[in-house]
Amino acid sequence: MEKRELLHEGKAKRIYATDNSYYVVQEFKDTISAFDGAKKSVMAGKGEINNEISCYLFEYLNNYQIPTHFVQRLSATEMLVKKLEMIPIEVVMRNIAAGSLVKRYGIEEAKVLDYPIFELYLKDDERHDPMISESFTFALGHCTPEQMRFINRITSKVNAVLKSLFDRRGLALVDFKLEFGKMDREIFLADEISPDTCRIWDKKTSKKLDKDRFRKDMGDVEASYRELMRRIMNMPPEKE
Ligand code: ADP
Ligand code: UDP
Repeated sequence: MEKRELLHEGKAKRIYATDNSYYVVQEFKDTISAFDGAKKSVMAGKGEINNEISCYLFEYLNNYQIPTHFVQRLSATEMLVKKLEMIPIEVVMRNIAAGSLVKRYGIEEAKVLDYPIFELYLKDDERHDPMISESFTFALGHCTPEQMRFINRITSKVNAVLKSLFDRRGLALVDFKLEFGKMDREIFLADEISPDTCRIWDKKTSKKLDKDRFRKDMGDVEASYRELMRRIMNMPPEKE
C-alpha cells in the first residue's frame, strides 16, 4: 500500500490517501491538546504510544466481532484503516463519574454509576461540542434510528470488553469517547482509543493515568501514558 497525499490534518492525527481508494493511513502526532484546542503542547513519543495502544485495542475488539476501521499497524506512528464517511458525533460512555458529569451535574467524582451512561455530542470545537439527543442525529440525517441502535449496541459491547480487559490489568475504565463512520450503509468504529480519549485510573491507588494529567497540570503526563501502554499491552516493565 502506497501512502499518497494528506487528506486531513486534525489536532492529534493526520489522514493520508493511499493508492487504494478504500483505505487511508492514520498517523498519530506528538501534539496534545485540551479544551477544544484552547490548551496545546507537544509531547515527544505521544504519537507512538497512542498508535500502539489504539492498534492493540482495535485488534482486540476485532477479535470480539466488533466492526472497526482497523486493518493493520504500518509503523510506530501509523495504522492502515478503512476510509469512512465520518459521522460528526462523539459518543461517550461512562462507568464512573468524572469530568463534565461532575462539573455539569454536580455528581460526586469517582461515584460508581449503577448503570453506564450513554451520551452524544456534536463534533464541533467552535461550539464546544454541544450535547445532543438521538432524535437530533435523525433530524439532521447523521444516521438512521437503526444505525443509532447499532452504535449504542457496539458502544456497550466495547465498554464490556475493555472494562474487563482493563480490570485484569489493574485499571478502571472510567469513561471514553468513540467515533463512528459509514462505508456504504455499514457502520464501523473509527478514530482512536487511547489515553487521549479515555479516562483510566489505577484500581488500587485511583491515580489518573490519562489526559486529565495534562488538562489539570498534574505532571508525569508522558510517564503515565507510557505506564498505560505497558500495562494495557502486557509489556515487561521498562529497565532503569
Ligand atoms: P480532530 O479533527 O478532531 O482534530 P484528529 O486530529 O483526531 O481530530 O483527526 C483525525 C480525523 O480523522 C478526525 O476528524 C476523525 O473523525 C477522522 N477519521 C478517523 N477515522 C477515520 C476513518 N477511518 N476514515 C476517515 N476519517 C477518519
Ligand atoms: N472526550 C474526548 N474528546 C472530546 C471530549 C471528551 O475524547 O472532545 C473524552 C474524554 O477524554 C473523556 C470522555 O470523553 O474520556 C468524557 O469527557 P467529558 O464529557 O467528561 O468532557 P471533558 O472533561 O473532556 O470536557
